[in-house]
Amino acid sequence: RRKWSGVVRVVREMEEGCETSVGRLRQVVDAMAVEMHAGLASEGGSKLKMLLTFVDALPDGSEKGTYYALDLGGTNFRVLRVKLGGKGHGIVEKTVDRQPIPQNLMTGRSEELFDFIASSLKKFVESEGEDSEFTAGKRRELGFTFSFPVKQTSVSSGILIKWTKGFSIRDMVGKDVSECLRIALARIGLNMRVAALINDSVGTLAVGHHHDADTVAAIIIGTGTNACYVERTDAIIKSQGLLTSSVGMVVNMEWGNFWSSHLPRTSYDIELDAESPNPNDQGFEKMISGMYLGEIVRRVVLKMLEEADLLESDSTKLSVPFILRTPLMAAMHEDESPNLREVSRIFEDVLEIPDVPLKFRRLVVKVCDTVTRRAARLAAAGIVGILKKIGRDGSGGISEGKVRGDESKMRRTVITIEGGLYTSYGAFREHLHEAVAEILGEDVAPYVILKVSEDGSGIGAALVAASHSQEN
Ligand code: ADP
Repeated sequence: RRKWSGVVRVVREMEEGCETSVGRLRQVVDAMAVEMHAGLASEGGSKLKMLLTFVDALPDGSEKGTYYALDLGGTNFRVLRVKLGGKGHGIVEKTVDRQPIPQNLMTGRSEELFDFIASSLKKFVESEGEDSEFTAGKRRELGFTFSFPVKQTSVSSGILIKWTKGFSIRDMVGKDVSECLRIALARIGLNMRVAALINDSVGTLAVGHHHDADTVAAIIIGTGTNACYVERTDAIIKSQGLLTSSVGMVVNMEWGNFWSSHLPRTSYDIELDAESPNPNDQGFEKMISGMYLGEIVRRVVLKMLEEADLLESDSTKLSVPFILRTPLMAAMHEDESPNLREVSRIFEDVLEIPDVPLKFRRLVVKVCDTVTRRAARLAAAGIVGILKKIGRDGSGGISEGKVRGDESKMRRTVITIEGGLYTSYGAFREHLHEAVAEILGEDVAPYVILKVSEDGSGIGAALVAASHSQEN
């Protein structure tokens, strides 16, 4: 009896610690907008890096011609060819070749990696055969999605800041990524121009904008999380005088590193962070993204099991960090059987903890919901923070957010979202949509549309190459 009340207490304290009332979310919205401003005001002015991308022309569907793309950012590497039909036709043809990156190339020397990339590209081009529209000597245009932290120096060049995700090629850090590719292309004799170097969130925004010109921002919520949006050039204070374009530029927020004292943080988050390889880093990401949600649940459930005295020994599988992956957590959360059969199965088969009572399993489902709900609502607050920064949240009567000539009418605003957590986890998506509507209120919410984007990291680079191509 006493034991059970301990379990209930753990769950209740967790719920209290994850509180995200609309009032608190509005504080997060304000903090996001303030930090965005600070990150744009000066280099290092905020935990938000607010990186310039030099992308000042987003594709709008009028692009025409054949463009190539490379996508490097994880375990797979892709080469794409996209045929754009011009206004009203969109993408008329798309060819993709996907292959794993050989493990030894991820930690070797940069020449080896780029020779591999260039020769994959050459094979891809050669497979076009006779009917290729590129006669000998005609140069092909290429967009490169390189999803590692890069300091851009132009729309088509940038310097690698550091490797992540298992890559570690030391001689590459500090080098221009496009230059490495150019040298490898020249070595192999392939006539291609690197027209764009972007990260995956920018690719997502490009695809979104290509489909719908009211798209102003892109959010990625998969293993990690990031966001980018279109900012007015004169609001990018840290580069005033440097930027010539008058319209606007895509800013890569690197929002996974956002932090605010208003974020509802629990002891589980603090411990997770302390034991991570990057403490005090990526604080927002650690509360929101797919890499961490299952891990937070694991920590809470372990505490519950200890309280309930349900562990037969100390060496439970549940003590292994990251063993409870987010898709498993989602499967437990979405278990709709009356006696939670799926939860039982996961405890038995994956965690090797048999005979967990039904009332305990019910609380586990509740914890999954608490963790996902907090994540989704904080992501929602982040999104509204962006809208606030660009005057599209309906507050303050900033004329930009209104239809010109009719100041009483809000402008339609589209946010495009990509990533496995958002697309594959229904409860996450529902909590996010609900929170955005709740924060904006019923007068403004109908003007803000959240759309799923697919495959931004592939096609996006080809589209940016097209919109920035000299031949366009
Ligand atoms: P990545 O972000 O790794 O490039 P994705 O956008 O496909 O790739 O996101 C994959 C992530 O999405 C996984 O790491 C996982 O956290 C999350 N995810 C995938 N499927 C599900 C699912 N069914 N339920 C919950 N989360 C999922």
